[in-house]
Amino acid sequence: MERSLPKQKAIPGVDKILLVSSGKGGVGKSTVAVNMALGIKELTKKSVGLLDADVFGPSIPKLMGLHGKPDITKENMMIPHENYGIKCMSMGFLIKEGAPVVWRGLMVMQAVQQLLWKVDWGELDLLVVDLPPGTGDVQLSIVQNVPVSGSVIVTTPQDIALIDVRRGVEMFKKLNVPVFGVVQNMSHFCCPKCGHETSIFGQDSKIKKFATATITEILGRIPLHENICELSDSGIPVVVTTDSSSKQQSSSFFEISQ
Ligand code: ADP
Repeated sequence: MERSLPKQKAIPGVDKILLVSSGKGGVGKSTVAVNMALGIKELTKKSVGLLDADVFGPSIPKLMGLHGKPDITKENMMIPHENYGIKCMSMGFLIKEGAPVVWRGLMVMQAVQQLLWKVDWGELDLLVVDLPPGTGDVQLSIVQNVPVSGSVIVTTPQDIALIDVRRGVEMFKKLNVPVFGVVQNMSHFCCPKCGHETSIFGQDSKIKKFATATITEILGRIPLHENICELSDSGIPVVVTTDSSSKQQSSSFFEISQ
């Protein structure tokens, strides 16, 4: 149940908002956001949208196999692109691919406002928002502007990543945003030849200890798998692939989404 702050306003047509965040970049936050949105849509048959609020490093266009400027309605609203039945909006559609985003705070805030209020989503049961890593202005601005149902934090099991996750958990607690739990990405590597599991980035015990200390639930464990990376690079989220070995490896995404 979302708690409304005085200045918060619902995004027209959007029922619930779920934030996907991380302490650090490169831990697989956007990959999880995409696959989680698709997993929720598949399991619940609800209408789900995806907002890429990672304005400095938008990767949703590539992960969802989408590009190009969005069309604009008569009311001057952007029409989201759509693939795999998910409507998507990203700063990546508005800037040149590969161009660096060198913006001062005010420009970042303007971009966030545009992404929040200038998109015609139609009717959505759920909007999944891929946040930038860390605990900065974008996170604060989104939580202050719109009522949020909760957040999911993606991390790898290294100590150095977990320290920043703790900051994220504390930030959401302060802002009264429920933390639904932590997704442990790249939790282990499973040898394709012999099936032996290696915890490359740290043992599960670390994340369990962390979860106990911060009273956070561990929602799922996703292995480090070459197909996740390869498919993502070609704009095919692993949960929609028809390749059975990748599908098997991605079953944890579906578990997370339940
Ligand atoms: P972030 O959003 O945290 O910066 P991304 O989702 O963009 O991270 O992922 C960073 C890179 O890691 C991408 O190339 C992605 O395909 C890859 N990746 C993410 N999760 C996995 C995984 N479980 N196994 C293999 N590669 C992964």
